[in-house]
Amino acid sequence: MNLSLVIPLYNEDESLPELCSWIEKVMNTHQYTYEIILIDDGSKDKSWSVIEDLSSKNTNIKGVKFTRNYGKSAALYVGFEMAQGDVVITMDADLQDSPDEIPELYKMISQEGYDIVSGWKQKRYDNALTKNLPSKLYNATNRAITGIKLHDMNCGLKAYKNEVIKSIEVYGEMHRFIPVLAKNAGFGKIGEKVVSHQARKYGVSKFGWERFINGFLDLLSVTFMTRFAKKPMHLFGSLGVLSFIIGFGMLGYLTFEKLFLNTYGMTTKPSFFLGIMVLIIGVMLFLSGFLAELITRNATDRNHYLISKKIGV
Ligand code: UDP
Ligand code: MG
Repeated sequence: MNLSLVIPLYNEDESLPELCSWIEKVMNTHQYTYEIILIDDGSKDKSWSVIEDLSSKNTNIKGVKFTRNYGKSAALYVGFEMAQGDVVITMDADLQDSPDEIPELYKMISQEGYDIVSGWKQKRYDNALTKNLPSKLYNATNRAITGIKLHDMNCGLKAYKNEVIKSIEVYGEMHRFIPVLAKNAGFGKIGEKVVSHQARKYGVSKFGWERFINGFLDLLSVTFMTRFAKKPMHLFGSLGVLSFIIGFGMLGYLTFEKLFLNTYGMTTKPSFFLGIMVLIIGVMLFLSGFLAELITRNATDRNHYLISKKIGV
């Protein structure tokens, strides 16, 4: 099978028929073999009956329905598990992403050898103040911290080699960082394609302002997980030792002053309190590192490595 289209949706009954017939049209013109995987993330509207109806008319359309709303990452995870196509494309169900981009994305993965191609909504039709501006700042932070040079990390429209999505596990709200997860799994050829974007035709956006707070916290977790999850002591230990040494130095100097220079009023000096605090923080960081190490030693995936090739075994 050439293509799997993984489409998470939450209350999008109005868009679905139009979206599916548009995709079918593109698939038929290019004669792709394909499947459309619609994951209903606990919609409360008629989405599921629309999916049943669409699926009965076209056997390439498959559907999964969650009992409740688990979030976009969960929906993608389930879609990725099912996807059989050589190239897997994710897109939003709200018609903001255009199915006409599919052939070009498909070509970039299957012929030009990219592991991932991310869409870039260069001209964006969302609210400038609540979405576009924060999103620019957010992407700049992402680029600085993760080192992945994408303009639009969280674009819903992305294409992957099948093995990429089978090697990563999207959980929590990590759908914003799939390129980071993939890079960490060893898939470093990440491309970008300018895609057209439309204003939302039906329904409303499912993500509010909290996305930026949650997204930032997730960025910290994903950076921590990809760099230090298997060796937490390297982070906590070095910070802890550094902090301990600074605190020890400060208190040591104060002691020296008191004993040999006969200075008085140690406890009225800010450096006294600062020294104590920094020293204690150092010890706590160090201990957190030890505890984190104990936890990773016991984690079931501690020896989980992705192997790409083997010979003679
Ligand atoms: N979505 C989902 N589960 C959720 C929230 C959103 O499956 O809990 C889907 C939604 O139906 C849409 C896609 O994720 O297909 C992107 O959501 P939306 O268009 O609201 O985000 P925006 O374009 O505003 O960033
Ligand atoms: Mg949208």
